Amino acid sequence: MSILVMKFGGTSVADLDKIANASARVKSEVANGHKVIVVVSAMSGKTNELVGWVRETSKFYDAREYDAVVASGEIVTSGLMSLRLQDMGVDARSWQGWQIPIETTSAHGSARIKNIGTEAILAKFDEGIDVAVVAGFQGISDEGRVTTLGRGGSDTTAVALAAAFKAERCDIYTDVDGVYTTDPRITKKATKLHKIAHEEMLELASAGAKVLQTRSVELAMRYSVPLQVRSSFSDEPGTLVCSEEEIMELNVVSGVAFSRDEAKVTISGIEDTPGIAAAIFGPLADAGVNVDMIVQDVSTQGVTAMTFSCPEDQLDLAVKTMEDAKSAGTIGFKDLRSETDIAKVSIVGIGMRSHAGVAKQMFEALAKDSVNIKVISTSEIKVSVLVEQKYLELAVQSLHDSFELHKLS
Ligand code: ADP
Ligand code: ASP
Ligand code: MG
Repeated sequence: MSILVMKFGGTSVADLDKIANASARVKSEVANGHKVIVVVSAMSGKTNELVGWVRETSKFYDAREYDAVVASGEIVTSGLMSLRLQDMGVDARSWQGWQIPIETTSAHGSARIKNIGTEAILAKFDEGIDVAVVAGFQGISDEGRVTTLGRGGSDTTAVALAAAFKAERCDIYTDVDGVYTTDPRITKKATKLHKIAHEEMLELASAGAKVLQTRSVELAMRYSVPLQVRSSFSDEPGTLVCSEEEIMELNVVSGVAFSRDEAKVTISGIEDTPGIAAAIFGPLADAGVNVDMIVQDVSTQGVTAMTFSCPEDQLDLAVKTMEDAKSAGTIGFKDLRSETDIAKVSIVGIGMRSHAGVAKQMFEALAKDSVNIKVISTSEIKVSVLVEQKYLELAVQSLHDSFELHKLS
């Protein structure tokens, strides 16, 4: 049995006409002799609306109920897609996460997939059903509660299903026709890459290029899932996410990624004793704050300061967690200052491993355009900086030009 996984993101199922367009693509793969597992997102904008309702109802909400609410968007589109396919004469059936089941951890809002049952869908395929339309982004915990996999999680549902069902391919249909050197909404000079290595895609995704969820790339790499990003609205070939060995020439910089809504917290007047980092970041981790960059100042007379960044929408939680820890006496500090309107800009490329001077070129390009850098962090194939949000577009364009990314393909 030849199985394909086709994932349609929010803009590809944004209304009934788009659902019909996606269904036609599925129908033609069925006509090619494949059984198809379709993974759908919620209609575009729906998840944001649902998240907004949760936040409006409860500031520090119960994450289990958040999941109960936000998982509903995908349930609607899976049912609608199945109906549309049936109407086109395709034998299709919808599945919610718990029905498959997609078993996950209990980390509500950012659960990880532990196991996928294949029996139920395979049995239906054997009975003659050609298409399983799966609600993306959701699963079920050991406690039997609905979970979600983090924003953009339908990508991960798709790749995990492709791995579990040993699918021939996993095609991610979206509103761009592949992975570009940067978000094509930011600069017209962005070019489509025909291939990108797993490691690079992993870094771009974790640095904010939301075209694929980071976890989906991790799974594709671990289980060697042939993964392609392509457009729902054109027949252009997409971008293949593949192993480094399949790429002839490795770029020093393959892309610029950014994340717009970051916040920065500086805690000062901390007594510099062993264990202080654990005392700060332990409670933040327990509270579910995604701390990204961390900088500790050089201490003067045994007193130091610590700066960290986190997503802007977790700032209230981060500040509350620090203040609670201070009240409980687990950490002592004098002052806590937070800053919003911060953005992170990153350059990524495997060729950096064997190429000196990349960070220098990045800093010079930003300096030339008078973009002030607030915090820097580096890894083997990535350099990231925090800048004021108002400089984001300028910083991305300037790096794209400096590294001549318009010449890539
Ligand atoms: P979907 O709803 O289909 O999952 P997303 O909005 O999650 O789509 O992801 C697609 C979007 O990712 C594109 O519209 C584009 O604006 C953005 N994007 C960011 N960085 C890149 C990149 N390097 N290449 C392509 N798209 C990117
Ligand atoms: N609908 C979810 C989101 O907007 C999951 C997804 O689209 O991948 O984050
Ligand atoms: Mg997405």
